[in-house]
Amino acid sequence: MKFSLRCFHSAAKSSVRNNIVGFIGLGQMGHAMATNWVKKRVTDNLHSNEKSGFVVYDIDTSRTVSFAQSLNEVYSGANISVASNPAEVASASQIVLTMLPSSPHVKEAYYGNQGILSGLQTLSNEAIRNTLCIDSTTLDVNVARDVARSVKHLGSSMVDAPVSGGVAGAKAGTLSFLVGGTFEEYTQASPILALMGSRIIHCGDSGAGLAAKICNNLVLGVQQVVVGEAMLLGQRLGLDPAVLAGVINSSTGGCWASSVNNPVRGALPGKAPPCERDYEGGFLTSLMLKDMKLAIEIGKSTGTSLPLGRSAETVYNEVVEKHEDLAKKDFSSVYKFLERKSDSK
Ligand code: NAD
Repeated sequence: MKFSLRCFHSAAKSSVRNNIVGFIGLGQMGHAMATNWVKKRVTDNLHSNEKSGFVVYDIDTSRTVSFAQSLNEVYSGANISVASNPAEVASASQIVLTMLPSSPHVKEAYYGNQGILSGLQTLSNEAIRNTLCIDSTTLDVNVARDVARSVKHLGSSMVDAPVSGGVAGAKAGTLSFLVGGTFEEYTQASPILALMGSRIIHCGDSGAGLAAKICNNLVLGVQQVVVGEAMLLGQRLGLDPAVLAGVINSSTGGCWASSVNNPVRGALPGKAPPCERDYEGGFLTSLMLKDMKLAIEIGKSTGTSLPLGRSAETVYNEVVEKHEDLAKKDFSSVYKFLERKSDSK
């Protein structure tokens, strides 16, 4: 803790706010994204006279302290400080990126007593105008729009920029960012997002990035269930999983859930989907359930009928509630759930 406060105060005093970027939420995705950000900024700065710095915050202090310690050691000049709350991040940084679990955490980070908004309020009008907030969390579209409205009301800019590509894409720096905001805000955010991703797509106004993300994950969540069903049924009809996957993937049933994330061991020879490592290292079932719930909720509020989405949500809900071991595995483990359910009949 001493380490973090000392570093934060020294950075806040000695660096120019314009070249400081803040990152809140160093979980599976955030840690990998922030690492790429630091690496690329430090490499770029070798060729310029600009001094940059980073301020990080996570509710779990051990994550930020170890992040700052290890990267400050590896990259001399990284200048990473640890803040004690989101307000400190906002008051020290020109760009503030949040990567949090969902809506309540984003509300807390922005509206909390020591939240981003209270940090922005301590700044001059010019500094407020120069601040860009980027939220990459997958959360409720309406909450994201409310937060962006509050930020813009103060005078700063904000985009929603949820990601597609998972932890592997975050580590490789190949994420797709789905951006919601004005075209000017998109243009402002693009070079920053390009430090962490390879596709930056402007989806429309505030909330549009999230709308696109939620619709995509609605498709994905449903497909992963039905691919599990088909792979299970096919094997019970005597088909070899590799033969069946080969047929589906070269036919009209082909989709990412089958051709990349196939849930059956040996179905994709030469590839390594999560099922080959006991469903570790992918997109958690609990996160997929959260995203299905987001789709169902926004479906309700817009009067959109989502019968398949509802069925898939019921399935993921049962997995998470009754199969604790699968809740924290890749969501393709829904196949194991279907297998268990079938075996118990
Ligand atoms: P995670 O749970 O690993 O990380 C979240 C981090 O936020 C944790 O370090 C936690 O301590 C921190 N946190 C929680 N509440 C906080 C608060 N109030 N203030 C500060 N920090 C707080 O989650 P993740 O897998 O990194 O996912 C982050 C977001 O990205 C989610 O919205 C998820 O849906 C989305 N996403 C995840 C993946 C994936 O494959 N994991 C893929 C695409 C999108």
